[in-house]
Amino acid sequence: MHIGLTDHLLCPRCQEEQALVLLIQETTEEGRVLRGWLGCPRCRADYPVEGGVADLRSDRASAPPAAEMYQGDDLPLRIAALVGLTEGPGFAYLAPALAPWVSRVAGLVPGIEWVAAGRAVVREPEMPGVSRIVFDGPRLPFASGRLRGAVLVRPEAADLREAARTIWPGSRLVAFEAAGSGDAAFTDAGLVIAARDEATVVAVKRIG
Ligand SMILES: [Zn+2]
Repeated sequence: MHIGLTDHLLCPRCQEEQALVLLIQETTEEGRVLRGWLGCPRCRADYPVEGGVADLRSDRASAPPAAEMYQGDDLPLRIAALVGLTEGPGFAYLAPALAPWVSRVAGLVPGIEWVAAGRAVVREPEMPGVSRIVFDGPRLPFASGRLRGAVLVRPEAADLREAARTIWPGSRLVAFEAAGSGDAAFTDAGLVIAARDEATVVAVKRIG
């Protein structure tokens, strides 16, 4: 994981937004975190970083949640284009169904670090532009208003609200396979729909 991601992560166990503190045990030559601990100063929970993956689950005895991989033509390019970022720095979130694509999305927008979640990321290598996390949700383990974009697949209304909470005002949330999500679900999440085709929605977080 990128060391700067620490500033945007929250303790999943604390109800209030509580930042985590990183103890580094091993880094790559580029300074990426391979091994260490994320600790919560409030509830004293510790979350390991192993093989570059930040494991924010409360129950680490079972396998991380799996997601069916979302397939689509030119998906890495479409993800980068629809999120609409042209340069970094910043972090953008990819939901678990998109995580297998993350190494091909990385590098398409200079300076953007893609945060990918779910069981599939454990198999990905540590590489620049890709920060890997696992968590057991439904809350996203990010502080509010920190990410520069989020990409979801088949989101429920609660997923839209939660992802909208984590992105900057004016930044985009992209939802694939969103035919089941009515316009109201986006509006209620504080988003304005910028484009919608049958199954893909691009929405912008309202400013103010
Ligand atoms: Zn905590």
